Amino acid sequence: MLYQRPKGTHDILPTEVPRWQHAEAAFRELCRLYNYEEIRTPVFEQTELFVRAVGENTDIVAKEMYTSEDRGGRSLTLRAEGTAPVVRAYLESNLQGQDPQRLTKLFYIAPVFRYDRPQAGRYRQHHQAGAEAIGSSQPEVDAEIIQLSMAFFARLGLDEVTLLLNSVGCPTCRPESAQALQDFVKPHLDEMCADCQRRYETNPLRLLDCKNERCRQIMQPAPSMLDMLCIECAEHFDKLQQTLDLLDIAYTVDPHIVRGLDYYTKTAFEFVAPGLGAQDSIGGGGRYDPLIEQCGGPPTPAVGVGIGLERVLIAQESAGVVQEEAPREGVFVVTISEAAWPEGLKLLAQLRAAGIPAEIDYRQRSIRAQLRYADAEGYRWAAILGEDELQQQTVTLRDMVSGEQESIPQSELIARLSAEL
Ligand SMILES: [Zn+2]
Ligand SMILES: [Zn+2]
Repeated sequence: MLYQRPKGTHDILPTEVPRWQHAEAAFRELCRLYNYEEIRTPVFEQTELFVRAVGENTDIVAKEMYTSEDRGGRSLTLRAEGTAPVVRAYLESNLQGQDPQRLTKLFYIAPVFRYDRPQAGRYRQHHQAGAEAIGSSQPEVDAEIIQLSMAFFARLGLDEVTLLLNSVGCPTCRPESAQALQDFVKPHLDEMCADCQRRYETNPLRLLDCKNERCRQIMQPAPSMLDMLCIECAEHFDKLQQTLDLLDIAYTVDPHIVRGLDYYTKTAFEFVAPGLGAQDSIGGGGRYDPLIEQCGGPPTPAVGVGIGLERVLIAQESAGVVQEEAPREGVFVVTISEAAWPEGLKLLAQLRAAGIPAEIDYRQRSIRAQLRYADAEGYRWAAILGEDELQQQTVTLRDMVSGEQESIPQSELIARLSAEL
């Protein structure tokens, strides 16, 4: 082997693709039901977009982005998270339209690139399904985004997903909680990890979600941001909880959920599933009211979610949710003489044109080898063409499950199979 896939990446092999398609189809279908429209943005953006939107002092921007210069000397970055590109496209193409009251609801399924330490369920290219609701400050919209996510997990058989909920405040009340966290941490600072020592200065809220064991112990009794919310943030958080109660969505308030991005305000949430170890988050999101203005638009409140599809699939495996084996379908055209070969090729084309999956053995091996192959490839039927069949204008249709065979006029084969499939 001369080449291997780059470290931290993975191939999605044909045997795994049906699970991906199933998850993606479930997400698309739910977005349709909830009135979110799909958007597809480029895989790279101007670096400045992520720096401005995600925040210079976040881990993502400080050390996880795939950034390089193109031949024109422009700094470009592979999609480092899902929301900033959607907001950029929303502003650039004026998706808001003429109605300032319009709630613009968008979703995407796209790869995300982070230079992260590879570990179970963490890849340098991973895939995210996300939804964004732009243009409302109502906590009921936060609840809708959460409800959509929970419906997605339920469709995938993940009944054990826990919703962790927090509020990270707003520019009015956050300086106070940041200061309180710094005051609390100061006496312990030299015991904390290098990341936390940096966060202490640049991003104190993130001290709360360090995964380092010692840091977690230290932060356990830290002051809660929830006690320092301004009236507006506190009311928003109350209303969100009331709405979740109304919708029968269970949650746990966890003041340590802060998310790794600077743009979050008020609501922050995470979904955790059992069986993923320390990296048990399968998605999360929150409100990002200042982001659209930061990106050059008018003040526009918004809320969104991003779900890690690799993590979701691992959670399905841990939960024992296994997709049923794909049912047998399609027809394998078996030719058993030189003269039957061109007729077989014509029949193959007719079947495919009629919407019936079909295959043939281009090596023209023995009938036994062809039938064995058709069986191994999971075909439902074999359509056998030999000398007798050619003379009588028939085809012998073999049921690959029961082994039963019958003779059918060639002209009736497609109508017959269409009715069966
Ligand atoms: Zn506030
Ligand atoms: Zn730490």
